[in-house]
Parts: sequence; structure tokens; C-alpha cells
Amino acid sequence: MPIDPTLPYDRDNIFAKILRGEIPCSKVYEDDFAMAFHDIAPQAPVHVLVVPKGDYVSWDDFSAHAPDALIAGFVRAVGHVARELGLVEPGYRLLANIGVHGGQEVPHLHVHLFGGQPLGRMIVAR
Ligand code: AMP
Repeated sequence: MPIDPTLPYDRDNIFAKILRGEIPCSKVYEDDFAMAFHDIAPQAPVHVLVVPKGDYVSWDDFSAHAPDALIAGFVRAVGHVARELGLVEPGYRLLANIGVHGGQEVPHLHVHLFGGQPLGRMIVAR
């Protein structure tokens, strides 16, 4: 069920619990600013989620309110993970779902990183 990204941050969301180590994940990277782990229901041969370490619901919330160091660290972490996974040369796709029209289900900002095969159209044709 897509979430309302204008609601206050919910500290009990599933990615908050993963960041606190309360539930397991298949981690691929972590630094002071971000954590990356495999999506539990992959939609491509490589499907990794990168989440910033901070209480931000969506890209809107993060871009408006996060400190510059966290924004820079998160963006660098996404690039680092893509390089570490060998995705730069073949190419890959980043995606962030925001709110109802975006189909966002987890109310903690995350970027999907897809790769490992040609990914087709950006949006399914109607
Ligand atoms: P979104 O629609 O952008 O909010 O996508 C949420 C993503 O989180 C989906 O692709 C889910 O498969 C993924 N997901 C949900 N729970 C977990 C979990 N415990 N570990 C890893 N990925 C998860």
C-alpha cells in the first residue's frame, strides 16, 4: 500500500529497524551516511536498496531537511555501491519511489539500484 510521504517519520518502519540492526538484511555496504542491502524481492539480477542514515521519509523530506554532509555522503554511497557491484561499465538504473503516484511502500527514503541485464523501458507503456 503506497504511503503518504507528507506524514511524520515513523521510527518503526522496516528500514529503520534494519538500520538499527533489529532485523536482518543482506548487507552489501555501510558507512557513516548510508547502508545498502539486497532487496528481499529482487526485480532484476542486481536489485540493491541504498538508504541514508537519518529519519527522512522521502526524497522530498531528505532534499529539504537533511544536512549537506548527509546528502553528499548518501549520493557518494550510491555511486560507491554501483562501482563495487561492477555496474558502471554495463550500466544500471537508479529509482526512488515517492508517495502514492510513485508507489512508495516503505516510509524511509531509499534508492533502488537495478542492474545485471538490459532493463527495458523506464516506465511501462500504457
Ligand atoms: P518502495 O515501493 O520503493 O517503497 O519499495 C520498497 C522495497 O523494499 C520493495 O522493493 C521491497 O521488496 C523491499 N523490502 C521490503 N522489506 C524488505 C526487507 N526486509 N529487506 C529488503 N528489502 C525489503
